[in-house]
Amino acid sequence: MSRQFQFKLVLLGESAVGKSSLVLRFVKDQFDDYRESTIGAAFLTQTVQLDDATTIRFEIWDTAGQERYKSLAPMYYRNANCAVVVYDITQSASLEKARSWIRELQRQADPSIIIALCGNKTDLSSRRQVTQEEAQKYAEEENLMWCEASAKTGEGVQDVFMAIAKKLPLSA
Ligand code: GDP
Repeated sequence: MSRQFQFKLVLLGESAVGKSSLVLRFVKDQFDDYRESTIGAAFLTQTVQLDDATTIRFEIWDTAGQERYKSLAPMYYRNANCAVVVYDITQSASLEKARSWIRELQRQADPSIIIALCGNKTDLSSRRQVTQEEAQKYAEEENLMWCEASAKTGEGVQDVFMAIAKKLPLSA
């Protein structure tokens, strides 16, 4: 007997950290240097195989990071099962922004939401401003999953979603 579970996942983070690129890599295994910014929010789905009998279907809401769309975010995270909060490892300010999203989720989202903090653009590690230690320490303190990835090379991208899939509560 095969079972499929469906979960809602929201991406949050400052504009240009690579949210849409991570989704494009995960869903279509593509990367585009010249993508246009997301307006409002975009919706895509992707399934992952958890084991022989279990698939997880993610409904992915990719939100726009611009300040002018910020008021829309609660609509997307309110009934989300999981959130990926993205920062750019080459921009310290983007980690600050990620922290503020995480505080907002901790206050306003469903208490059972699974939150992953994800540092993107590891292919640009020569320009790194956020150390792994700093981000990991913060994630541990806040009880969040933490990972790094590169939407450009694909490194770590499947792992983010797979790690979340493994944490989701599956009921019969
Ligand atoms: P969003 O606004 O957070 O959705 O960010 P986008 O996905 O639109 O990406 C913003 C810019 O960063 C685009 O020019 C992307 O091509 C670039 N980008 C995204 N991910 C990566 C990555 O992993 N490595 C590099 N080098 N560039 C990336």
